[in-house]
Amino acid sequence: MTRVQTFVIVGAALAGAKAAETLREEGFDGRVVLIGAEPDRPYERPPLSKEYLRGEAGREKVYVHDEGFYAEHEIELRTATAVERLEPGSHEVVLAGGERLAYDRLLLSTGAEPRRLTIPGAELEGVHVLRTVADSDRLRARLDRGGHLVVVGAGWIGSEVAASARQRGMEVTVLDPLSVPLERVLGREVGGIYRDIHLDHGVRMLLGTGVEAFEGATAVERVRISGGRAIDCDLVVVGIGVTPRTELAANAGIAVENGILVDDRLRTSAAAVFAAGDVANAEHRLFGRLRIEHWSNALHQGPAAARGMLGRGTAYDRVPYFFSDQYDVGMEYSGYAVGWDEVVFRGDPASREFIAFWLREGRVLAGMNVNVWDVTDSIQALVRERAPVDRARLTDPGTPLEQLAERRTS
Ligand code: NAP
Repeated sequence: MTRVQTFVIVGAALAGAKAAETLREEGFDGRVVLIGAEPDRPYERPPLSKEYLRGEAGREKVYVHDEGFYAEHEIELRTATAVERLEPGSHEVVLAGGERLAYDRLLLSTGAEPRRLTIPGAELEGVHVLRTVADSDRLRARLDRGGHLVVVGAGWIGSEVAASARQRGMEVTVLDPLSVPLERVLGREVGGIYRDIHLDHGVRMLLGTGVEAFEGATAVERVRISGGRAIDCDLVVVGIGVTPRTELAANAGIAVENGILVDDRLRTSAAAVFAAGDVANAEHRLFGRLRIEHWSNALHQGPAAARGMLGRGTAYDRVPYFFSDQYDVGMEYSGYAVGWDEVVFRGDPASREFIAFWLREGRVLAGMNVNVWDVTDSIQALVRERAPVDRARLTDPGTPLEQLAERRTS
């Protein structure tokens, strides 16, 4: 009689849930145990700062699968369950309370933890972070009461929450030490477009501004900013980035550096242990080492890791992709750009219908389409091919983008 294999997944968010689904799709008939610390079954985060936060979408919209999915597919979903440690030597996972689970393959999809400010008043009531569906529920209830929201950090959370709160009629101020929103990812030029979008919607943008303290009797009443000035407020959202949850891996002696280090097949330094999603710092054919904290990475790396666990893995080399909706401005970004020579535009950025390309040495590192649709495949083809691109044709809206991409691939 053959022994039934057990595949354990630690981390029951999008990457973990999609990995479990893929194991069954690929015909794995052993045990699949999906362990999550939160009480909810796996859910997706993009709506939490957008339509779910605004109250336009209900709970059912955020879940990865229907309630019955896990039982139907004999996936042992263990929510509200903390893993205490991993023992890769004996292929075991130890749960809080001492229960031991032996695994044949293990996937770590432990995600990331929101960074918190350590300034005075950071623990006051009314100072929120937004990561979980419970965080979004709390914030959503608070948005219903109106008033003045101060957002600390003009990254993705800050930008989307600011837009959602404005759409719900709140007064909104955004603070960030950098000079434009999303500066590190988009640069000053494109970040400036997002600053103007928020300004046009009545958000007060206090850029180049740090925060020194939150003040209030029991709940936050004002934010003290660099220079000593204070801003009265009713509510604060802190969106200053996340830290990958690597503690379990590190304590087990698995190699960790800005995330759990994995090769291009998502294998960690420990035999039979894989990692995927926000926590995985993966080798990527096009970009070297990458740790991507976006929805689409979790969506695709989970299944890729599952195939790897089954011995059917191939190199994970998808072009990074994410999207954001703020007010009536929708965008998709494909690629990865950290240092670039120039940003060029196809279409007029002032019209808020354009594509921006980040170029280095005449090659497309990344492209972002704003209120222009069905161009992702072509942009990704340009990014993937890395061939020098004809700048005049790239920026000419009359030249179909797919022609440029086709030229690259031919
Ligand atoms: P984020 O996008 O990394 O942005 C953090 C922002 O906070 C940056 O602008 C950062 O500036 C700023 N910051 C850092 N320390 C600060 C401080 N002490 N005071 C004020 N500002 C500070 O992170 P996030 O917005 O918190 O989002 C959390 C995660 O969720 C990220 O991984 C993000 O990619 C993901 N997310 C994605 C989407 C999407 O794809 N649409 C939407 C929401 C969230 P510096 O750059 O100078 O550090």
